[in-house]
Amino acid sequence: MNVYDVIIVGAGPAGLTAAIYARRAAKSVLVLEAKAWGGQIINTPDIENYPVAAHISGADFASQLYQQAVGLGAELKLEKVTGVEELGKVKRVRTNLAEYEAGAVILATGSENRKLGVEREQELSGRGVSYCATCDGNFFRNKDVAVVGGGNTALEDALYLAELANKVYLIHRRDSFRGEEATVALLRKKENVEFVYNATVTALLGEKRLSGIEVTDKLTGEKRTLELKGLFVAVGRIPENESFRSLIEVDPAGYAVAGENCRTKVPGVFVAGDNRTKEVRQLVTAAADGAVAATEAVKFLNA
Ligand code: NAP
Repeated sequence: MNVYDVIIVGAGPAGLTAAIYARRAAKSVLVLEAKAWGGQIINTPDIENYPVAAHISGADFASQLYQQAVGLGAELKLEKVTGVEELGKVKRVRTNLAEYEAGAVILATGSENRKLGVEREQELSGRGVSYCATCDGNFFRNKDVAVVGGGNTALEDALYLAELANKVYLIHRRDSFRGEEATVALLRKKENVEFVYNATVTALLGEKRLSGIEVTDKLTGEKRTLELKGLFVAVGRIPENESFRSLIEVDPAGYAVAGENCRTKVPGVFVAGDNRTKEVRQLVTAAADGAVAATEAVKFLNA
C-alpha cells in the first residue's frame, strides 16, 4: 500500500507541477508536504509575472494547482519527510508518521528566506516587508523603500527598485559588499540610491503597515529613522535540504547539485525548484523544474 512509482517531497509549485506531469504519464504519485500546500507563494498577495495570469493571489494560485494535481489522481499527505534512502532500484522515504517506497523520488522542498530577526518582521511580512523585489516591487512605484543585505540579490534588488521607486536606501551591515563590484558601480550612478553602511535595521515602525524603520549605526550606536513604505530583505536564503545531505550532493550554500535535467548523482533521485543549484528562482522556473523532473523520472522508470 505504501509503494508508489513517484514520491514527491514538497507541495509547492515545483512539487505539484511534477505531480501533474507524473500523473499524466500514468504513474502513481504521492506528494508529501510538511507545512502547507502551495509553498512560499501562498504569502504573495498578487502575482503578476506568471504567463497568462495577469493577476492572481498566491493563495488562489496554490489552491488551483492543488486541485489540478488532486484532480489528476495525485495522493497528498501532510507528513514531514525525515530522510530518503537508496536501496538499489527502490528508494525508501521516511516521514514522521510512516515509511514509503518509490522507484523515483523528486525533492522539491524549496528554500526559506533568511529572516532579519527583527521584532514584528513576521507580522509586517506582506504589509510592507517583502523578500522578493521582482514579485512585490511594483506595489512600491514612486514610494521610498529600503533594501537590506550586501550580496548580489540585495544589489540587484536595489537596481531593480531604483527604476520604479522614488528612493532606495541600500542598508548593509559592513562597508564593503559581498556582491559584484560591477553592480555596485551601476548603483553608485543612480541618484535615487542612498548607501547606508555599517548599519542594521533595529526596529520596524507602523501600525497595520510598515511606515518606516529604525536603523542603528554599528560603529557609533547612533539611531536614525527612515520613513518608507517598503523594506526588501535580501540577506540570503536557506535551501531546505537538511534531510537529504547524506543522500545527494549539495553545494557549499546547501543547494542540491543538479543540472537543467534536474537529475542528481543518485539514479532515480531528482530535484526541482528553489532547493536546486540554479540562476533564476521564480514561480515560473519552479513550475518548469517540476515538469522537467517528472519527465526525467518517468523516463528513468520506463527505461
Ligand atoms: P548572500 O550572497 O549569502 O548574501 C547575503 C548578504 O546578506 C550578505 O551581504 C550578508 O552580509 C547579509 N546578511 C546575512 N545575514 C544578515 C543579517 N542577519 N542582517 C543583515 N545582513 C545580513 O545571499 P544572496 O545575495 O541571496 O545570494 C545568494 C547566492 O546567489 C550568491 O552566491 C549570489 O552570488 C548568487 N546570486 C547571483 C546572482 C547573479 O549572478 N546575477 C544574483 C543573485 C544572487 P555579509 O556580507 O556581511 O555576510
